Amino acid sequence: MSASQTQPSIEVRDPLESIGAALFQPLGVDGVYARTALYEDVVEHLSALISRQRDPRAEVLRFPPVMSRRELEKSGYLKSFPNLLGCVCALHGTEGEIRTAADAYESGGDWTQSLTASDLVLSPAACYPLYPLVGRRGPVPRGGLTFDVAADCFRKEPSRELSRLQSFRMREFVRVGPPAEIAAFREHWMGRAERLAEQLALPCKLDVASDPFFGRVGQVMAVSQRQQSLKFELLIPYFPGAEPTACMSFNYHRDHFGLAWGLADGAGEVVHTACVAFGMDRLAVALFCVHGLDLSRWPGSARRALAL
Ligand code: ATP
Ligand code: ZN
Ligand code: MG
Repeated sequence: MSASQTQPSIEVRDPLESIGAALFQPLGVDGVYARTALYEDVVEHLSALISRQRDPRAEVLRFPPVMSRRELEKSGYLKSFPNLLGCVCALHGTEGEIRTAADAYESGGDWTQSLTASDLVLSPAACYPLYPLVGRRGPVPRGGLTFDVAADCFRKEPSRELSRLQSFRMREFVRVGPPAEIAAFREHWMGRAERLAEQLALPCKLDVASDPFFGRVGQVMAVSQRQQSLKFELLIPYFPGAEPTACMSFNYHRDHFGLAWGLADGAGEVVHTACVAFGMDRLAVALFCVHGLDLSRWPGSARRALAL
């Protein structure tokens, strides 16, 4: 190799590029990656840390990456985020129809023209399947219910940023019950989350936020959500001076899911719901971006918290 070839490149590189290469392997589509052992090890330790924070009364449920299309429709998802939803499609019909459709691929045609929707969608958040499940159980007991749920989630938001994946893991603590309890739960968790970030030595800020509701009507919904402080986010800058990334969210749905799923107490009073969402991939990427790739050099408090 000649001396000139060893000169440092003057090209301005994305500071996260080398980190990304150690954590993810490309799979041919933006925002969908294979995860390395280094990365998964941290995700596992982070999951265990979150489990240790769980309310002992919480019921643990793990959901598959797909859920009932009808249930998501009934939850109102199409009104708010139709642009993000992924629907499972399949070839339906007789053997002959399916064969003809599939053979279109071999002859250079577009087999996907023959796809039709199945009764599944890709879950866009971990808590959606929970509310209908709770509704099927009958009246919500006095004092409410607490859950620990998780799922692999999909959102059609392709991006080359490490923080915006199409397929990512979400863990949530969900509370279902009387309005005062729900407000207290969310308040409690906003404080806990800040302390957790402090233990992990991650710089952060809590701020009121809004969901990225779709379209022009969506902008009005976002303003109203902000005015009522229904959503907060824990924001972490991935490197000094970076636009901070939302790594956790604290969402108060009021009676939205209660009304949609007939969630009521013994007296027939509709209950409220709130969820605290941990973006597992965003948190893990934050740890690597802030502390580097060598786990042995991570701050002591973060290593202790994660039991590394
Ligand atoms: P953003 O505004 O950044 O898109 P969001 O408001 O859509 O975030 P939520 O719907 O509150 O996010 O989802 C809960 C958590 O899931 C987020 O706080 C974040 O940590 C994580 N998350 C959301 N979208 C993605 C994504 N595309 N890739 C990775 N993690 C995500
Ligand atoms: Zn949720
Ligand atoms: Mg989003």
